[in-house]
Amino acid sequence: MIDEKYISQIVESVLKSAQEAPAKSEDKKQLGVFETMEEALDAVKKAYKQYRSYTVAQREKMISNIRKLTLEEAEVMARMGVDETGMGRVEDKIIKHQVVANKTPGTEDLQPSVMTGDDGLTLIEMAPFGIIGSITPSTNPSETVLCNTMGMIAGGNAVVFNPHPNACKVANYAVDLVNRAILAAGGPENLVVSVKKPTMDTSKMMMECPDVKMLVATGGPGVVRTLLSSGKKAIGAGAGNPPVIVDDTADIAKAASDIVKGASFDNNLPCIAEKECFAFSSIADELIDNMTKNGAYLLKGDMVDKLVKVALVEKDGKYSINKKWVGKDAGLFLKELGIDADPRLIICETPENHPFVQVEMMMPILAIVRVNNIEEAIEMAVKAEHGCRHSAHIHSKNVDRLTAFARAVETTIFVKNAPSYAGIGVGGEGYTTFTIAGPTGEGLTATHSFTRQRRCVMADGLHIV
Ligand code: NAD
Repeated sequence: MIDEKYISQIVESVLKSAQEAPAKSEDKKQLGVFETMEEALDAVKKAYKQYRSYTVAQREKMISNIRKLTLEEAEVMARMGVDETGMGRVEDKIIKHQVVANKTPGTEDLQPSVMTGDDGLTLIEMAPFGIIGSITPSTNPSETVLCNTMGMIAGGNAVVFNPHPNACKVANYAVDLVNRAILAAGGPENLVVSVKKPTMDTSKMMMECPDVKMLVATGGPGVVRTLLSSGKKAIGAGAGNPPVIVDDTADIAKAASDIVKGASFDNNLPCIAEKECFAFSSIADELIDNMTKNGAYLLKGDMVDKLVKVALVEKDGKYSINKKWVGKDAGLFLKELGIDADPRLIICETPENHPFVQVEMMMPILAIVRVNNIEEAIEMAVKAEHGCRHSAHIHSKNVDRLTAFARAVETTIFVKNAPSYAGIGVGGEGYTTFTIAGPTGEGLTATHSFTRQRRCVMADGLHIV
């Protein structure tokens, strides 16, 4: 006979250890992730010193390990990202990680230049900047950590991240992943670091640390402004509100399908995604019809006003996003309106000055504005882009119109006749990046963006001609 007291002791101890188990696994030390920014900075300083003696071939080995692990763990990070932030779509986030792994440049982007002549030989090489401080967004949290790391360490730098607080679990998972990859390739410990609980204070400490020689921010206007007033070399990748124009020469069925694909990708979180559409009146009905055949739901009448109340917050006549709804599935918005449907994208017709046109929504909602001609379309699109000089798109076969729009809008990315993501190398030529630096002009950042030029002069000859 086992006495009752003994049984209850066993039950109590089993329950206690079951409760402790998850806490223990959460506490598992992640490589490169520190409790305080001070510790992170100390560790990365030591790592950078060691890294100076590594060869370019060794850098490349580490990067190729990061590519491999990113592909292997793409789904884990995609799920973590959606779970932690409540934003985006797992299947699309998997693709984003795959693109980072396959299309982020490595050391091949380091191209020296040479000048020779009667006065000898001059060599210009792309040298590391040193320790780079990087602030990352909630919309592409792990993708930005992985993409920044590859470019930055390819350039010979070390990195300290201050991720978005609402996405720091998945961002720090990526920090751990890159450290695992670096160590497996024989690289130094803590070449890439972060803090467990990033805050504005840790961000300030990182920015003010004299050993941090370059700052990179990917996010909205606030963080870019802060960085640009830091007094350090800064790369700012800021907000956008990309318009797309569809004229009467476009292949309307393809334009409709491309726009639905681009605007619904990861629930419109990407900063490059089509966020409002200006369509020639003569083809607008055909465009809308084709969009609905490609996964869009057309919302009409007072339902559009109801959707405004869900998606946006109004104060003194000014609209801003309702953060709770950023990156949510289109079906959830419709459910809130009492509609039972689960499309990829919600579309609706609005006037030009509607908040769905003017606000950077980052939700799978696309406003369509009818225009009479290309001049009107360009004027409205330029206004909606708000001078961010980020991204703009057009579907047209008229070269004069393509050129006129590109010249007027002056964006870093300009995509013709394809979904917006062609601009970052998905179904379009060229490499990828998740840090598109419009405000500071580096454009699509890559290894070369994270280097400084150094000139070495030999004036006493060495010619073979
Ligand atoms: P966010 O601006 O809220 O946050 C971005 C990062 O900046 C976070 O780490 C945040 O903690 C930090 N931050 C914000 N304000 C700060 C301040 N004043 N000082 C210091 N740090 C500050 O952006 P988000 O919601 O995470 O991301 C969406 C925004 O980022 C959109 O506007 C989108 O267009 C933009 N974005 C741009 C690019 C690009 O490559 N240009 C890429 C992704 C996202």
